[in-house]
Amino acid sequence: MIPYGHQSVDDDDVAAVLAVLKGDWLTQGPAVEAFEAKLQAVTGATYAVAFANGTAALHAAVAAAHLGPGDAIATSALTFNADAACARYVGATPVLIDVDPATLNLDASRIPDCDALIAVHFAGLPVDLTALPHRPRVLIEDASHAVGAVTPDGPVGGCQRSDMTTFSFHPVKTITTGEGGAVTTNDAELAGRLRRFRHHGITPHPEKGGWHYDVSELGFNYRLTDLQAALGTSQLAKLDRFVSRRNELADRYRQLLADTDVELPPNAPAGYVHAYHLFPVRVPNRDDVYRRLRDEGVGVQVHYVPVYHHSMWADLGWRVEDFPQTEAVYREILSIPMFPDLTVDEQDRVVDALLRAVAGGRD
Ligand SMILES: *Cc1c(COP(=O)(O)O)cnc(C)c1O
Repeated sequence: MIPYGHQSVDDDDVAAVLAVLKGDWLTQGPAVEAFEAKLQAVTGATYAVAFANGTAALHAAVAAAHLGPGDAIATSALTFNADAACARYVGATPVLIDVDPATLNLDASRIPDCDALIAVHFAGLPVDLTALPHRPRVLIEDASHAVGAVTPDGPVGGCQRSDMTTFSFHPVKTITTGEGGAVTTNDAELAGRLRRFRHHGITPHPEKGGWHYDVSELGFNYRLTDLQAALGTSQLAKLDRFVSRRNELADRYRQLLADTDVELPPNAPAGYVHAYHLFPVRVPNRDDVYRRLRDEGVGVQVHYVPVYHHSMWADLGWRVEDFPQTEAVYREILSIPMFPDLTVDEQDRVVDALLRAVAGGRD
């Protein structure tokens, strides 16, 4: 099976993890600090706080922003459920925004009245935050798909127009730590709250005796391990190569699929770099194409089952009719293989199978 996404782990990544395994720190220690420093350098943010996974990073971001009961947190209708779930983790209410079919991102011109916005950079194409008609009290970017993406403001994660940016380092994402995540910010107070939230809400008080600490707020154990962080630092050194290889593959897909019944994903506008975590095409007979490609060993995937489809949200009364654009996209969308180690031969196989499947679905 050619998967839709796959990590690229080389001998130097393995060596970096082994070096930590033979050292003194296994859980959060100096390797996490080094990873955070590298993430700061890559994004341009003043602070980076590593987390156990991207969902923990989202939970921490909404908690650090003091969002809670009575607050409305808006996000895209077409994203992973975690972007809505993090609202419920803190007792806030998620509000979904229909997508703009031209970008597959949330339609920035339709931001509802809300306390916070989580702008998800779908597939690795940054949301144009300059298009927001008003800035909610809290603006969080979910860059799970977009480490390595660039906007006219600079690298995604620099938080030029947002309070915080969250990342995921799950193996299908652009760089991996196995499981892992992070939040970047330029706000010292938010960074402090994020760190406490990750570590049981603990504030050390060495002035009262070396052992002394106070648990000043509710926190979690959301730490990344040094083993994972070592992998992350080694992976971040290759970020530019990973992103340019993804862009090369995207260009090649665009050439091979031009003038066919396969609708190509949105391009990055001038001044932007697309991170291409995903290459989501649209095909008229999607369910049939999904089955045919899977049967032929091409591991396509659907990103995503829209958030309002999930039964856990029944109490909020979301209706399919409220999200016509997302619904139309969902019927046709299909992520085809996209990862740095995908070979040109494999890509040709994918395109050949895809075009046959699209044609085969018609009478
Ligand atoms: C992957 C992902 C997450 C969650 O990250 P995990 O590391 O799997 O917890 C959140 N939001 C989006 C958009 C994602 O793609």
